[in-house]
Amino acid sequence: MNILVTNDDGIESRSLPLLIRHLQKFARVLAVVPDREMSGASHSITLMRPLRGRQVRKNVYTLDGTPTDCVNIVLLGGIKFPKIDLVISGVNRGPNLSEDVFYSGTVAGAREGALFGLPSLAVSLDTENEEPDFSFSAELTARFVRQTEWLPRLLLNVNVPDLARKSIRGLKLTRLGNRRYHDALIKREDPWGNPYFWLKGKSLTYTKTVGTDYYEVKKGFISVTPLSLDITDRAGLDRLRSLAVKPRKRRS
Ligand code: MN
Repeated sequence: MNILVTNDDGIESRSLPLLIRHLQKFARVLAVVPDREMSGASHSITLMRPLRGRQVRKNVYTLDGTPTDCVNIVLLGGIKFPKIDLVISGVNRGPNLSEDVFYSGTVAGAREGALFGLPSLAVSLDTENEEPDFSFSAELTARFVRQTEWLPRLLLNVNVPDLARKSIRGLKLTRLGNRRYHDALIKREDPWGNPYFWLKGKSLTYTKTVGTDYYEVKKGFISVTPLSLDITDRAGLDRLRSLAVKPRKRRS
């Protein structure tokens, strides 16, 4: 099995060497990651400037781009490596739950793999710790890779509670919940009296619904959410069909 690893925390991510080591026990691993932290990059792609990469060590590269760029460089043949079977993005420092999946560079890295038709996996550690211990989440990711049947385009978003191994209650298949950020905007003044802004979310509320990702992670379970590439609102489509938006017939 040939695995591409990327992330949005960049080359300094402490999970990266651990994850590579665990995956290398059964797979050929190529890691291409941003050369700096790209958290919140979502699915952005760099089109208006060249991308430059650097080899850090054997089969580990950095790129001055986003996770989506990293996946593209590899899957479009930019680095000599056997054909990739699976894309893994992570392990992210911090959760990617519920609506986070729209902002997350971690999830986007995996989603890009799925858009290329490959099975893909995003993994995040639900922690607020600046220097968390990734040993369990990295090991779990490798075990999960071996135990899962990787169908084409299967896209899984996994979140691991930051708990001691023995406190983790198991694994649950979940759906996305709803998460609300509060006090997300900080406004300050620079030394010249000009205002500037920081976007800094602090999660305060979430849906307390059994079966959602946030809820189950907070209950101590590893959350596995299959994500769809088609985000069409089916109910909205039906509603619109029965209401105003009707395809017009062309006049002859
Ligand atoms: Mn990140």
